[in-house]
Amino acid sequence: MAGYSGITAGYLILGDRPCLVETGTATSAPVVRDALASLGVGPGDLATIVVTHIHLDHAGGVGDLAGFYPEAEIVVHEKGARHLADPSRLMASARMVWGDKLDVLFGEMSPTEAARIRALGDTGSVDLGNGRTLSSHYSPGHAKHHVGLIDSGTGDLYVGDAAGVYLPQTGDLRPATPPPDFDLRTALDSIALFEALGPQRLLFSHYGPVDDVQETLERSAEELRVWVDLTRQAHSAGMDLDHAVAMVRDRTRERYAALQADDATAEQFELLSGAPSNVAGIIHWLDRAQP
Ligand SMILES: [Zn+2]
Repeated sequence: MAGYSGITAGYLILGDRPCLVETGTATSAPVVRDALASLGVGPGDLATIVVTHIHLDHAGGVGDLAGFYPEAEIVVHEKGARHLADPSRLMASARMVWGDKLDVLFGEMSPTEAARIRALGDTGSVDLGNGRTLSSHYSPGHAKHHVGLIDSGTGDLYVGDAAGVYLPQTGDLRPATPPPDFDLRTALDSIALFEALGPQRLLFSHYGPVDDVQETLERSAEELRVWVDLTRQAHSAGMDLDHAVAMVRDRTRERYAALQADDATAEQFELLSGAPSNVAGIIHWLDRAQP
């Protein structure tokens, strides 16, 4: 993504019905296709492409990959489905947020034929073949079109961004609370739901697997509370967004080894779960919840 590697994950589940979880950005689509080819998955082989949510770092490549894999069914939560079929509104609002950086960071999402899209409700299931399934569980809070997915064969839980952003280089975990959907209560409920599913492992989209399930999910909830508490303080002190961001960034700095590490690591962390986006999302929620 945007010239970085090891920043946004897609996962290939091999088996009778190969399934790709997350596509990454549109600009990453050829990289994903080459990776699948190197693992023996050709154009006619991929049965399913599923995305945890439709943000462009997770689903930007769906249209391109749907083209590369004509047999694949595209699976997404029902609140995201129409945006994959017609990405024009999604792209317009992303362009408002990112401006010219959009082309470098994400590229343009291509539309997916509506007939190939299957929309998930609160729960759903993807057939992985041989009696193995990937069960989806609606998990809003980060985004209103977010699902987590658990593999019946391995107990691997694909958490998307609902448990925050994990940095394998340092073990840091930071919340991902962007506008306009962030909601503390539903975000905490989603983390509790993940715990109740009893996963063996958490597979973060940013970035990689984590074995320490219980401790990591507790940390996810704690991170949310810390960021919300500090943002609430800044907001009720009457600070504007810039000052609130500076205050929260400063007061959370010592929590994260990444920000003490080299510039490149700090920059990656900031790109995925930036303080401006997190604080803006929390303020948006505060204003809605307590006008
Ligand atoms: Zn993300």
